[in-house]
Amino acid sequence: MQTLAKQSMVIVGAGHCGGRAAQALRSAGWAGVIHLVGDEPHAPYERPPLSKDLLTGDKTPTACALHSDEDWANLQVRRHVAQVTSIHPADHSVTLSNGEVLGYQSLLLAHGGKVRTLTIPGGDLPEVLTLRNLGDAAALAQRLQPGKRLLVVGGGFIGLEVAASARKLGCEVTVVEGAPRLMGRAVPEPVAERALALHRAQGVRVLLGASPQSIERTADGVRMLLADGTQLDADTVLAGIGIEPHLGLAQAAGLAVGRGIQVDAQLRTSVPGIFAAGDVAEFPSALSSQLIRQETWHNAETQAGIAAQNMLGGNATYTSLPWFWSDQYHYQLQVVGEPALAVTSATRALEDDGLVIFYLDASQRIVGACGWGEASRVAKELKLARTLVEKGVSASAEALADPATKLKALLK
Ligand code: ADP
Repeated sequence: MQTLAKQSMVIVGAGHCGGRAAQALRSAGWAGVIHLVGDEPHAPYERPPLSKDLLTGDKTPTACALHSDEDWANLQVRRHVAQVTSIHPADHSVTLSNGEVLGYQSLLLAHGGKVRTLTIPGGDLPEVLTLRNLGDAAALAQRLQPGKRLLVVGGGFIGLEVAASARKLGCEVTVVEGAPRLMGRAVPEPVAERALALHRAQGVRVLLGASPQSIERTADGVRMLLADGTQLDADTVLAGIGIEPHLGLAQAAGLAVGRGIQVDAQLRTSVPGIFAAGDVAEFPSALSSQLIRQETWHNAETQAGIAAQNMLGGNATYTSLPWFWSDQYHYQLQVVGEPALAVTSATRALEDDGLVIFYLDASQRIVGACGWGEASRVAKELKLARTLVEKGVSASAEALADPATKLKALLK
């Protein structure tokens, strides 16, 4: 076992973060074995298109792959289509669901989370889908034919992106959100209001503060009953109600776990030789040092490289700031930094009802920004806003709110 362990890196989770980490190990010169263990049959791919271009047919599954077939083959990664069922830190090994045992020199946990399912009666009917992987997207896409009725539970990012895609495909769409507003997890109220108006203008029926009670079969589909007695008929229900990070494996092995697998700024868990990154990791924020967990493309992409360096004995620190985006119709939302750290904010108007909200701490340092509006405009503004947050620039709320202030000038 020891000889094998000395030559092998093991990555749990063959998603975006795991796939990128394998690539980063090779780029950093690792010539030994890389085991990549994940239960999906596909080579690693990026998830953002699942709710958008992949559903609408504007992108193929191949185009979502993290690497071309040739690059993937050149990486010489040993893929195991299986789950890791236990970790044995004392002898640096993991056991797989197929019974195989793999020794590791360093181990990376990048196995993300499990999609939440509706636990109400009828929540397990075949018409009720979730969306987390390529297979889910294919099953949903097949059902989104013109004129079909889609009922989305959850007005978060997945739910709203799917709603927009389904409208584009000519479906009748209803969104049922439990909270009194959309995207409550990470988006400020003024942006949520604008998103609500946009979806309604695009013909989506949005019900807020709605509590699904049960789903039953009807002659031509399914019927959902809400707590207030409302009945909603549909052909398909999509539950977009978030994910739960996979914590059981780490917990059982004695790793420190909170809302995620806890790591330090070098992405080391509490057990030597074991690292965690991506959706599953709870790490210290570069802005506040508070532990945060991020379910984003950016987090998977950037933590993979840091984890790989440190798996090889490096001491790289993860300093990247939170960043995510969501595309809905021709609009885009972006959030950068940590708005929750702010004591005050400044709103900068963009044309067509768009806006950028800057978040300032007590010393007027910009700690976050959130933009919403026509996609190319938001992309441009938030590129500058991101740099402002990354550089820790201070500015007055008045200057930031004034459209005459050039953001570029604040960078000097
Ligand atoms: P995702 O990434 O899946 O979109 P989010 O956390 O961004 O996850 O959004 C999930 C949304 O689902 C939240 O707005 C939350 O309030 C809503 N939600 C969760 N459970 C229910 C439920 N049972 N009924 C209706 N809405 C729900």
